[in-house]
Amino acid sequence: MSRLYPLEKYRNIGIIAHIDAGKTTVSERVLFYTGISHKLGEVHEGAAIMDWMEQERERGITITSAATTCFWTPLYRRRGLETDEEKMKAKDAYEHRINIIDTPGHVDFTAEVERSLRVLDGGVTVFDGVAGVEPQSETVWHQADKYNVPRVCFINKLDRTGASFQRSFDSIVERLTPHAVMLQLPIGEEDQFSGIIDLLEKRAFQYGGEHGEDVSEIDIPEDMKALVEEKRSILLEKIVEHDEALMERYLAGEDLPLEDLKKALRKGTIENTIVPVLCGSALKNKGVQLLLDAVIDYLPSPLDIKDLKPTKGVHPDTDEEIIRLPSDDEPLSAMAFKVATDPFVGNLTYFRIYSGVLKKGTYVLNATKDSQERIGRIVRMHSNHREDVDEMYAGDLGAIVGLKGTSTGDTLCDPDNPIVLETITFPEPVISLRIEPKTKGDQEKLGMALKRLSDEDPTFKIESDPETGETIISGMGELHLEILVDRMKREFQVEANVGRPQVSYRETVKKPADAEGKYIRQSGGKGQYGHVKIKMKPLERGEGFTFINEIKGGIIPQEFIPAVEKGVKEALQKGVIAGYRITDLEVRLYDGSYHDVDSSESAFKIAGSMALQDAVKHGSPVLLEPIMQIQVVVPEDYLGDVSGDVSSKRGHIEKLSDRGMMKVIDARVPLSEMFGYATKLRSITQGRGSFVMEFHSYEEVPKNIEQLIVEGKQ
Ligand code: GDP
Repeated sequence: MSRLYPLEKYRNIGIIAHIDAGKTTVSERVLFYTGISHKLGEVHEGAAIMDWMEQERERGITITSAATTCFWTPLYRRRGLETDEEKMKAKDAYEHRINIIDTPGHVDFTAEVERSLRVLDGGVTVFDGVAGVEPQSETVWHQADKYNVPRVCFINKLDRTGASFQRSFDSIVERLTPHAVMLQLPIGEEDQFSGIIDLLEKRAFQYGGEHGEDVSEIDIPEDMKALVEEKRSILLEKIVEHDEALMERYLAGEDLPLEDLKKALRKGTIENTIVPVLCGSALKNKGVQLLLDAVIDYLPSPLDIKDLKPTKGVHPDTDEEIIRLPSDDEPLSAMAFKVATDPFVGNLTYFRIYSGVLKKGTYVLNATKDSQERIGRIVRMHSNHREDVDEMYAGDLGAIVGLKGTSTGDTLCDPDNPIVLETITFPEPVISLRIEPKTKGDQEKLGMALKRLSDEDPTFKIESDPETGETIISGMGELHLEILVDRMKREFQVEANVGRPQVSYRETVKKPADAEGKYIRQSGGKGQYGHVKIKMKPLERGEGFTFINEIKGGIIPQEFIPAVEKGVKEALQKGVIAGYRITDLEVRLYDGSYHDVDSSESAFKIAGSMALQDAVKHGSPVLLEPIMQIQVVVPEDYLGDVSGDVSSKRGHIEKLSDRGMMKVIDARVPLSEMFGYATKLRSITQGRGSFVMEFHSYEEVPKNIEQLIVEGKQ
């Protein structure tokens, strides 16, 4: 066995959009067109396409998988080919493998979006050609920015009444990126939308037939020639900015070869300094094949991003940085990015291989959990079938069946060359509630259901209250927990009572402090002896906890150091103000003593806990609360009422701006003030306002409010 497609012919992409922009329709059409092209090895006109469409419609093609594989040979490589032999040759030479990674459209589930962004190399962002950029498009866009994902934009639904390519394009430039540039122009819009002009190639395509299946090349319409020249020169100027030699030739008035222009545009897109904008109507089958050409031409292969975004990780024992190249010859490194339950095969762990080869029947190391996993079965997901494979290679995406101990974000690797890849950073849960089974019989099922759901979703956490033994679940927002509780009832048939959602506060310190922990019991029999001295200091917000061991010369024997760290960590679980978890601090263990006979791990653990508690008490402890970034969009008439309400929630308004006929308020508001906001906003604006919200940071709670929280009144 060896790989069928070289790495430069891979595109691992996501179709990114918020709900309703047309992501499902675009994905379906992509699978449809790639399906026929792969089957026939060419573009067939009319009848053949319709046959295939009918068959597929009966079986149904949808993306139900977290990663679906399909194949595409650019249209321009197939034009003018006559014989089957010529067509097969073109296919062999130019066919690419495209892996489509499903990205959820719902912005409340940041974790879902982030984990898919982590494993893709490029994205197609879909917009509604009537609405242009919407508030949720901005959230999704900024998430992709965070991972520096190269993108092309697809302005969809140009057939709808009220659609405008120019206006939608302008909204992208204005609100998302100044790097956007038109690569195409539509011929006609709304019910007159009939074709697309490629500005780079200066070619026009017309879509005919009942379903837009007859594509023919036409002359550029007379009344569009001037516009094509104008937009083309804007495009060329943008492109040559990325290539000095090309710029000189352009300024000298030379006619630049298409190949060179494409190469420079590809470079700019991959470096994220150009964002090509395309157009079409997925529903009416217009523009999707050209979009696929653009995916091949401009979005990166795993090789293209090896310098821009190298695959980095650390050795699990030494923390030494390791870089892995996208090559089959490197040791295996792969990331599990989704755990799902499939009705037919059971537990599926989706992964992406960054380097090396994954083989069926071998053992790999889960370096995150330090455990072995056996690879029993590997499957590749296609739009309508699942293919069993023996091996997968660098750049591949697939799923392993039946892994037990691997969760989202874990690294799977060669046991002889361990590495923990830079993981997906998930935000900390900010809201929690108590949950209890309705009957004794539900108890066990509840535990199992919660474990399953938290394996799938790393922002969903389960804890048990050490005092009451009750189960507490936490997540990213009211809606997030509501949906998970609902899934538990529907998918796992667990009946449970849930409490009111509570904000997950944290505690931290503002001042450094030294402290000592002594746990010494030496009266009769074997005694206890643990003694440590620590220096504690606050860290920046969001940095978490670090433990540094500075013990030299065996003042405390090496074997007891992990116990001290464990004790400190245990004490961090329960803060001194109101019992919330303590975070953002550093502890240095620098001194202490031991006793030859009486010292034990447990004594040092207790000493560590005592020292930490003491240090925190002397470190000016404060309470922290989650602050949310919110964006509210309202008609102007309600601006005063809505912004007044935001301010009264201890909100800090950062920006007021216009969006068409609407006003936009960007603000930061404590989460505790945001409960039930959807209902409140609806009533203030008579249902005409909307908002999006995501976690921003933990910040100090004002003293007067802290008092209320401590007394349990907030
Ligand atoms: P998703 O929520 O982003 O997955 O969006 P869907 O693909 O489900 O599309 C949302 C709605 O828009 C559906 O009713 C589609 O039929 C419709 N739609 C999608 N693409 C187009 C298009 O190109 N033109 C028109 N007129 N409607 C479209």
